[in-house]
Parts: sequence; C-alpha cells; structure tokens
Amino acid sequence: MTKTPADTAGAATTAPKMTPEDAEARRAVKPVICYPNDTLAPPDLALYHAARQTAVKVGEVTVPPRDGASFTVKAGQFFRITSIEGPQVGDLNLFNANDLSEKFYSGKTRALHGTHITTGERMWSSHPYLRPMATITADTLGWYGIDEFGGSVHDVIGTRCDPYTNNLLSGGQYHHCCHSNLTRALADHEGIALAEAEPQVHDVLNVFMCTGFTRDTGQYFMKASPVRPGDYLEMFAEIDLLGVLSACPGGDCSSEHSSDEAACHPMLVEVFAPAEGALGEWVSPPVNGYDRSHGR
Ligand SMILES: [Zn+2]
Repeated sequence: MTKTPADTAGAATTAPKMTPEDAEARRAVKPVICYPNDTLAPPDLALYHAARQTAVKVGEVTVPPRDGASFTVKAGQFFRITSIEGPQVGDLNLFNANDLSEKFYSGKTRALHGTHITTGERMWSSHPYLRPMATITADTLGWYGIDEFGGSVHDVIGTRCDPYTNNLLSGGQYHHCCHSNLTRALADHEGIALAEAEPQVHDVLNVFMCTGFTRDTGQYFMKASPVRPGDYLEMFAEIDLLGVLSACPGGDCSSEHSSDEAACHPMLVEVFAPAEGALGEWVSPPVNGYDRSHGR
C-alpha cells in the first residue's frame, strides 16, 4: 500500500487513509446511466411543429439588460426567447400560472436529460407534480453540441447569480444579479412583497449560457456564449405557464457576472397561439401518478 502526503498529515489525529491496492480497478468500473430515459413517452414534435405553422403572435415582452420581466403562456401555446442587439444570457424561471408551488425542477431535469437541454427535451416541474412544464421545439444553437472543454449551451447545472454568493466571495451589495431581477419581476407580476416573492425563485434554465465542469477540478465554468442576435430557443407550453426571465448582468458570460462590468443586452420573449384544433387530441399532461402514500 502507498500513502499520499495528505494521508500522512492526518495520521496523528485520525486513522490513516490508505489508498487500497485495488484503487485503479475500482476506478475503472464503468458508469451506468442513473436515469435511463427511454421509458419516457417522447413528445410528439411533428404535431407541435405542425401546430406551430398555424400559430400567430399573441404577446411579447422585452427584458431590459440587468433586469427581469414576466410573461404568461397558456397550455398549448409556444414561447420564443430571442437574442437581440448582442450576445446575452438569460436565466429562466417557470411556474404553473395557476399554482406557484409547482415550479421548474432544475435538478431532476438534469437527472433526466443531462447537463444541457435542447430540442425534444423538457423542463420538468417540482414534486409532487413532476410532469413536463415545457418542451423545447426549436433551438438555433442545437448545432453547438459539446465542445472540447466539455462545454455546451442551455444548462441546468448552474443556479442563478445571486447577491448572497457575491457578498460571500466579493463583499458588497449588488442588486442586479439574476436572483434579484427574478425576485422583483415575480413580485411585480403577483403584486406581492419582495420577501414573499424571493423564496419562490428557483434554480434556472440558463438560456444561451455556455457552461460545463472542468475535468481537472470539477468546477463549474462558463465561457463566451455562442449566441448571436437572431438566435432563439422556442418551447411548447405543456401547462399554463408564468415565465420570469432575467437578462444576466454577466452579458454573454465571457468574463464575470454579479457586477456592471459586462456588456449587456435586452432579450425578447414572444408568445404564439396555434389555430383552433391544430393540436388535435393533445391534452395537457396530468400531475405525476405517484400516490403519495410513502409506504404508510
Ligand atoms: Zn445571472
């Protein structure tokens, strides 16, 4: 057996941690996918795309730079987030428009689809609902794939930039992190106090953001987003949605966030309604089928 320097340093007060002889063999065990998703019913993209052809625009909102804005989308409608004026990353929260306790579940979406999502994949809702909230129907950055650094676009691994982490790492009071932008926009939409809105803000879909984990230290990294004006991400609303989007103070997230240093740009959200009957037999998905008895 071999001892590492770290093992030796701790030996005086704790039992030595020895690297076992079969360490390499244990590391060589091949991984298995935690959540094989081939039993998930696939979305009917052909139906959605056909319905989209009949759709007309019914609303739009422009999200100002370093700020947030809200929008609503009825079940069966589409919404499109477009980069305008310059490369910009957006932090998206989704709620059931009729019940804020049902909200986007970044962690489980990651477990089901992977670290980044694209066309045909879905944004799933929190427990006990756990159902599709929205399905990605178009992604002009779908070509990006996974780059040589392990980076990709539209991640569900980041959380959202926030003033608490900023205070912890850099000190000071910065008020235009995505967390605060989302909090203000949600409070304004609901007509509630900031203190009531803030706990509803949750981990986001990082729209257009290019991120990954470093291979050597496992740290979350970002790099300049490949998004260009005109690029968009479009989704089909599976349930009635309240969306809240922040145009991140990091801009294209090429250098830093949580400050006013980066060049920032607005983002456009448009809502489209398909023609009556264009969705045929489609129905909004029911809440999750688990009976919630938890073994009692
Ligand atoms: Zn941000």
